[in-house]
Amino acid sequence: MTNTVKTVNHWIGGKAVEGTSGNWGPVTDPATGAVTTRVALASVEEVDAAVAAAKDAFLTWGTSSLAQRTTILFKFRALLDANRDAIAELITAEHGKVHSDALGEVARGLEIVDLACGITVQLKGELSTQVSNRVDVASIRQPVGVVAGITPFNFPAMVPMWMFPIAIATGNTFILKPSEKDPSPALKIAELLAEAGLPDGVFNVLNGDKVSVDRLLEHPDVSAISFVGSTPIARHIHTTASANGKRVQALGGAKNHMLVLPDADLDAAADAAVSAAYGSAGERCMAISAVVAVGSIGDLLVEKIRERAEKIKIGPGNDPTSEMGPLITAVHRDKVASYVTGAAAEGCEVVLDGTGYTVEGHENGHWIGLSLLDHVPTTAAAYQDEIFGPVLCVLRAETYEEGLALINGSRFGNGTAIFTRDGGAARRFQMEVEAGMVGVNVPIPVPVGYHSFGGWKDSLFGDHHIYGNDGVHFYTRGKVVTTRWPDPSDAPAGVDLGFPRNH
Ligand code: NAD
Repeated sequence: MTNTVKTVNHWIGGKAVEGTSGNWGPVTDPATGAVTTRVALASVEEVDAAVAAAKDAFLTWGTSSLAQRTTILFKFRALLDANRDAIAELITAEHGKVHSDALGEVARGLEIVDLACGITVQLKGELSTQVSNRVDVASIRQPVGVVAGITPFNFPAMVPMWMFPIAIATGNTFILKPSEKDPSPALKIAELLAEAGLPDGVFNVLNGDKVSVDRLLEHPDVSAISFVGSTPIARHIHTTASANGKRVQALGGAKNHMLVLPDADLDAAADAAVSAAYGSAGERCMAISAVVAVGSIGDLLVEKIRERAEKIKIGPGNDPTSEMGPLITAVHRDKVASYVTGAAAEGCEVVLDGTGYTVEGHENGHWIGLSLLDHVPTTAAAYQDEIFGPVLCVLRAETYEEGLALINGSRFGNGTAIFTRDGGAARRFQMEVEAGMVGVNVPIPVPVGYHSFGGWKDSLFGDHHIYGNDGVHFYTRGKVVTTRWPDPSDAPAGVDLGFPRNH
């Protein structure tokens, strides 16, 4: 690595802290393939130092007033708003997605900050008066303590914001372990939180890999783990953190289907399929990766998708004319390509082959073009696996029932969509499909902040979805207080060994 390579460290106890483990990871600019940054990879001792800082901060933050917390969150919201472009530029530089897409990610993260600014409403609690003679009962929710968030590369700003605004608004202190592939947006967010007046140690960024994750999972002072990433790691996180007595929400991978009924507006369906399959080069957990065409519309729909896909401009994310950027790493690009090169042998019809694509002047970037596979059998690897790249599979079904059975047969159940003009069919689909998030004529049904986000089956391990009411519940624990204040005129209750009854 040359001297021009930037160094990304940790943020612990309210300040940047240099990595001392001696281990560094490379961060590349996906558009050029050049290593631009080295990121510190924390040792067990550094994890322990971050947890100690967060534990210490919890002593005061956990009992801070709601007014103090929301004042800081409102200031943070304003700073975030003013820094949308700066954060989006950091995302593009390390992730590769186009600037407009990066801005969209920041905007969706900001929605959760909005929700956290209004936490006063959600923490009101419940009170029942006179449940028995002079007895009142209050239900309150209190923070759980030090919580950790482990996040994936594909949304380096939004996914952390699915977690920490609610965690800190409810009085917890937070340790973020971002993806080591694009760590810089997390550090920028830490600086903005500090500028907003967040006390030291309430929000910490610990950069690292499996070593730091595994230490967080076993650390006795970490009460809860939020994870978003691939299914195998989500399963590991859920099993290990649960065995260590922590509450855990672990969101995994996806294979999202879009069912297109014969009565659908095919132009709208083709627009939606192309946007949702190839946006962010398919590196979205809510990307549509399988279109199920029902009845005789298949050939026409595939033609409409092909026409649109061929027009997408691929290029560096910081070029305003680019619609799709590169993939995160060359290794990932090659893996994505292998699904396309192996597709024909598995019985798929290759309509568009994006392998071997390159961008002039950026030949070392992690490029791949758009691929479209038709008549994909369910046995093909391109259908079975989450590819996480710009590869769209089209499957054919004779009837709604056949299409539904195909979707429900998937091991994933993150998001899904139906395209139809038939309200009855759409309603039936929303009731019958096995997925956590459903779109009706909406291809990427990412819920707004005041609802919650989460899948079914291998797309989520744990009981809680992320953000919304589920987020508030996840980051707080219930306490119920039963109170009797006797009236001076009351006769002494006397001893009664019977189980207390309300009367
Ligand atoms: P990943 O699972 O490789 O990494 C996620 C996080 O886990 C990173 O912080 C990484 O450092 C850590 N990690 C990786 N390997 C680990 C190991 N062996 N032990 C402990 N920690 C480990 O995921 P990714 O490649 O960064 O992100 C893409 C994946 O995330 C896709 O599968 C995508 O579907 C999924 N994702 C899901 C959602 C959702 O809401 N369900 C949202 C975004 C991304």
